[in-house]
Amino acid sequence: MTEDKLYEGKAKVLFSTDDPDVLLLHFKDDATAFNGVKKGTIGGKGQINCLISTVCLKLLEDAGVPTHFVERVGDAQMLVKRLDMAPVEVVLRNVVAGSLAKRLGLEEGVAVPHPPCVELYYKSDELDDPPLDIDHVRAFDLWDVEEVEEMKRLGIRVNEVLVDFFKARDITLVDFKIEFGRDAEGALVLGDEITPDGCRLWEVGTCRKMDKDRFRRDLGDVEETYREVLARVTGPAA
Ligand code: C5P
Repeated sequence: MTEDKLYEGKAKVLFSTDDPDVLLLHFKDDATAFNGVKKGTIGGKGQINCLISTVCLKLLEDAGVPTHFVERVGDAQMLVKRLDMAPVEVVLRNVVAGSLAKRLGLEEGVAVPHPPCVELYYKSDELDDPPLDIDHVRAFDLWDVEEVEEMKRLGIRVNEVLVDFFKARDITLVDFKIEFGRDAEGALVLGDEITPDGCRLWEVGTCRKMDKDRFRRDLGDVEETYREVLARVTGPAA
């Protein structure tokens, strides 16, 4: 199998395979925060995140959300469909936290009244992923507008499925970021990952943070907590 490195990001590496439509996605132990300003490693994170993402993407696929997942092929590696990624991040919020709390001066931990907030961000390390409006997508032809509307609709479905899944494991899905792209046939497909790196996960009852905020805010027990999320995700529902 030929494996040329195509792209190396902060937490993942993409390699080509013999099949032009399939890539090998490797999850790294590296962790970064604040757009790469804070750097570190979380022991075992690559393997943990690969497993968590495998479970979540399969769950979503079964719920009718098309994903790039093909199969897990190594401890920290999965085969995925090659996608032409949209330069748009979709963030879903069920509880006020992070940049939303900061930007609007809201108290962290307050429930977002139903339906959840669906936000768009422009993928650009240079610009620090600024918030994006659908009108910006249209005006500056950043991506197909109908497809971005579909990303928002699919995001709501992803949220419904994951909220129930995590709730059954005594975890509140506070917020998360997802990314989409077009596959070889031009269909819109969920890409990237669903892991504690890109989701805020709080333990039900205690509100203990079980995600990358432990690393971002130096809360300690980062690896142990990621392992606990994995155990809950791969274990039976409570
Ligand atoms: O920082 P903010 O509150 O906007 O993040 C919202 C959610 O999106 C969090 O779960 C965070 O982990 C995720 N996110 C991400 N990658 C980004 C921005 C946000 O995974 N570039």
